[in-house]
Amino acid sequence: MTGIEQRLTSGIRHMFGRSLHIRHIDAGSCNGCEFETMALMNPVYDIQQYGIDFVASPRHADMLLVTGGVTRNLEEALRKTYRAAASPKILVAVGACACGEDLIGKTYANFGGVDKIFPVSVYVPGCPPRPQAILEGILQAIERTRELKSPPKRN
Ligand code: SF4
Repeated sequence: MTGIEQRLTSGIRHMFGRSLHIRHIDAGSCNGCEFETMALMNPVYDIQQYGIDFVASPRHADMLLVTGGVTRNLEEALRKTYRAAASPKILVAVGACACGEDLIGKTYANFGGVDKIFPVSVYVPGCPPRPQAILEGILQAIERTRELKSPPKRN
């Protein structure tokens, strides 16, 4: 087992039992980030072997993964999805647009990065980011949440 596999297995087991369910939200992407995110499900990356899966409902999700800069058309859907997700709200912004790098620029139809609306746990830059980078972002989000939930003991 590689280092990232061990960290994923250990983090998921400690934080969520035996599985991590992710709700993906396209807030206004060009679909490039979707292709790379969905590649995580193919036989090469096969993230289901670690207990990670994408789910249709935010009520079933432990983590939100947002792609695309937030467009006005999808802002309400993003807000409703965020509200429906359980706490702690772990949000991973995937791709330069979601990270607020202004690839599309500011227009009447577009807010920019996800952190203009909600706090982001981890940013995964790149246009689009590679599947390995997205997986590393998911892992960092798990580990940061784990650290926040169990602060180091004082002497
Ligand atoms: S970061 Fe690049 S690939 Fe992803 S939504 Fe923006 S333009 Fe598309």
